[in-house]
Amino acid sequence: MAFDLTPTAAQHDLAKRAHEFAQDCIRPVAQQYDQAQEFPWPVLEEAAERGFYSPLFYRDLIGDPTGLSLPMFMEELFWGCAGIGLAIVMPALALSAIGQAATPEQMLQWAPECFGTPGDLKLAALAISEPEGGSDVRNLRTRAVRDGDDWIIDGHKMWIGNGGIADVHVVNAVVDQELGHRGQALFVVPGGTPGLQLVRKLDKLGCRASHTAELKFDHVRVPADNLLGGMEKLERSLAKRREAARNGGRSGSVTLGTFEQTRPMVAAQALGIARAALEYMTTYANRREAFGAPIIDNQGVSFPIADLATQIDAARLLTWRASWMAANGVPFERGEGSMAKLAASEVAVRTTERAIQTMGGWGYITDHPVEKWYRDAKLYTIFEGTSEIQRIVISHALGAVDGRPPLHVDLEPSGGPLNKMFGRGTEVRGRAAASALNMRDHVPGPILKAALKILRPPR
Ligand SMILES: Cc1cc2nc3c(=O)[nH]c(=O)nc-3n(C[C@H](O)[C@H](O)[C@H](O)COP(=O)(O)OP(=O)(O)OC[C@H]3O[C@@H](n4cnc5c(N)ncnc54)[C@H](O)[C@@H]3O)c2cc1C
Repeated sequence: MAFDLTPTAAQHDLAKRAHEFAQDCIRPVAQQYDQAQEFPWPVLEEAAERGFYSPLFYRDLIGDPTGLSLPMFMEELFWGCAGIGLAIVMPALALSAIGQAATPEQMLQWAPECFGTPGDLKLAALAISEPEGGSDVRNLRTRAVRDGDDWIIDGHKMWIGNGGIADVHVVNAVVDQELGHRGQALFVVPGGTPGLQLVRKLDKLGCRASHTAELKFDHVRVPADNLLGGMEKLERSLAKRREAARNGGRSGSVTLGTFEQTRPMVAAQALGIARAALEYMTTYANRREAFGAPIIDNQGVSFPIADLATQIDAARLLTWRASWMAANGVPFERGEGSMAKLAASEVAVRTTERAIQTMGGWGYITDHPVEKWYRDAKLYTIFEGTSEIQRIVISHALGAVDGRPPLHVDLEPSGGPLNKMFGRGTEVRGRAAASALNMRDHVPGPILKAALKILRPPR
């Protein structure tokens, strides 16, 4: 499907409904949940009532071939509050990992358990990072060992969204000691499984309405069925990895694949924060007067706003492109997913910082939401791959494609052979227009008019 910026009627309506939800149900309580650092259960209930908290909703959006539904939804939700937004979408991250690794039977079993139903909500967590290393997967220490029909998991996880309070924990662990981080698998650990310990809920700078925790896995026993993808698939994948290791080659991991797929989704969340701050500071700068005029009349105030608006739109285009690529199976050969996440997270930090500066003393106190947005935005240059890691992914990808031209040059063209012969800019059209112009005194008016349509600028 071709990349198209025009939203469909359904996308337009989805964005409108998500915006109304963010405006009416999230913004009014955002500060309260942030200050109390409390999980926003009533807002999750309302999200579920409105159909925004269900596995089918996310599967539907992920399946959209335009790729735009998911980032449009995320941006509106996170425009309301990133902490509450994270609490709402955390199960979707776990679902994405399950979707990539699980058998269809496992998907049917666990997807409903990640969300529950209105009145009986459930939570899910994706537990990858460890105290010794978030960026460097080689430091992964969590192990899973087969014991009869079960697996026994031992390890330590850090910064886990919904960790310890989730009904479903999707956990990665090394299953092949020799392969180390290349010999990983994903398991489902249900909440309340003996040995799964919530060590502490973490006290955070921002996104404080979301629950983030340190977890320990002390001899956690799960049935073999909880290995996502099943034993046969694991054996096949380990054999491939052993072969690759013997040949000195690289092979990807399910875990890293999950992050690659979710990066445009996270970029869209950062855009929601950036847009909220841009709108707020622009409105403020229009109304606030200093030295007898609105402060926006000063280029020192308005030029940074212009620069940020430009960068936010650029980041949104990168995000929508990456999302469209993911939806259409176009591989991120030049690190396009990471480009989106890098651009969106960095512009969110710059915009929220500038919003505080634009509002002066009012920006620095909690009477206005911009100080909170600044704290929230900072998370986005850290989780789901830090900005430095995104730069590593992009530069490695560019190194691998070794100076190939940009994506559009490589894409399969649309329009077919007729378009190739007679489409705009083709030689045939050029020659027809030139001949018509040369013979203008001899050619009947209507024919000349038709030919010259090519030369006329579009309306
Ligand atoms: C609020 C919050 C929520 C989170 N939610 C989850 C979650 O739900 N699930 C989950 O699994 N994880 C989660 N994380 C973890 C997050 O993904 C990690 O914190 C992140 O990947 C960074 O890892 P680290 O903290 O170990 O930093 P490190 O990897 O130790 O990095 C420290 C610094 O060194 C830089 N650095 C490292 N290596 C290089 C290099 N080669 N070149 C240049 N610079 C480098 C990094 O960019 C960073 O600036 C969350 C984190 C936070 C703060």
